[in-house]
Amino acid sequence: MQMKKFELKSMVRPNIWELKPYSSARDEFTGNEGIFLDANENPFGERNRYPDPHQRELKKALSSRNNIPFENIFIGNGSDEVIDLVYRVFCEPSEDSVIICPPTYGMYEVSGNINNVNLIRIPLNDEFELNTELILSESAKCIFICSPNNPTGNNLKNIEKILDQFNGIVVVDEAYIDFSDSEGFISAINKYPNLIVMQTFSKAWAMAKARVGVAYAHKDIIALMDNTKPPYNVSGFNQQEALNALSEPEIFEERVDIILEQRNLLVKELSNLSFVKHIYPSDANFLLVKMNDAGDVYNYLVMNKVVVRNRDSVVPGCIRITVGSPEENAQLIEVLQNY
Ligand SMILES: *Cc1c(COP(=O)(O)O)cnc(C)c1O
Repeated sequence: MQMKKFELKSMVRPNIWELKPYSSARDEFTGNEGIFLDANENPFGERNRYPDPHQRELKKALSSRNNIPFENIFIGNGSDEVIDLVYRVFCEPSEDSVIICPPTYGMYEVSGNINNVNLIRIPLNDEFELNTELILSESAKCIFICSPNNPTGNNLKNIEKILDQFNGIVVVDEAYIDFSDSEGFISAINKYPNLIVMQTFSKAWAMAKARVGVAYAHKDIIALMDNTKPPYNVSGFNQQEALNALSEPEIFEERVDIILEQRNLLVKELSNLSFVKHIYPSDANFLLVKMNDAGDVYNYLVMNKVVVRNRDSVVPGCIRITVGSPEENAQLIEVLQNY
């Protein structure tokens, strides 16, 4: 089965396709010099000016770091804004469907419900891999694929097959890609006009507070997302924080290395505990751990001021443990050894 020739227009909501985007004062005049009496800003203070609605500096920095042209990059107020925009650009409320593959990131479902889009749930199989046959038998506007997946931690196989054969938009959420051995898919955006890759500054870049999410896709998809977003969706402070982080790649790498080292150490220490039944292999900065009495262990940890995520309701018997600092991990293990 080969994908039908992809036609973007047939995927997009007609009102979005026809949209004349808001043109801000900063769109109509973009120079830096002059007296700015065009945006009803206050002339006083240090924070008085609107930020760049197109986040040019940040996109330039990402473009050169990842070798992806500027026009293939979208910046959102966190990945959560990107997820919401995917729904708003492509999915007609109460008409269109989207495929999600639980257990996975909860925002795909919440955002789908907010946008009143029908959700088709095609669970991952026992190996936490995509059920490609079922996925390709469904008709839907989009599919959300999280790889490495949260909360299972693994890279998913068969994403290429979905990209080749699924007749719709394929969103690959790579929030954890910098902790993975996998290359990821941003270099595939030229090959696949239906691909959107999401990344974020919230995890490996240690900038969750700043709320900066990134999407890479064909420039026509990026343009639609840009037209649909609020004009000043990423604050000037947050753009600057992301730029600062990008300017110090050695700090980023050093932190990722420590986290990966600590992940290995945690696997070793956790596997020595008698009540730990299984530690799933992880390509992310967390471990999914199956235990006897996960709920009980969770409550015990909370009582000892160690907060992990109880995932028993989505993966029976499991808690998800984020890899912390060396000190935090040592403390976690000490508390667990006294369970
Ligand atoms: C943490 C996480 C994100 C990050 O979302 P932001 O809004 O950018 O903070 C995105 N996707 C997944 C799967 C995550 O676990």
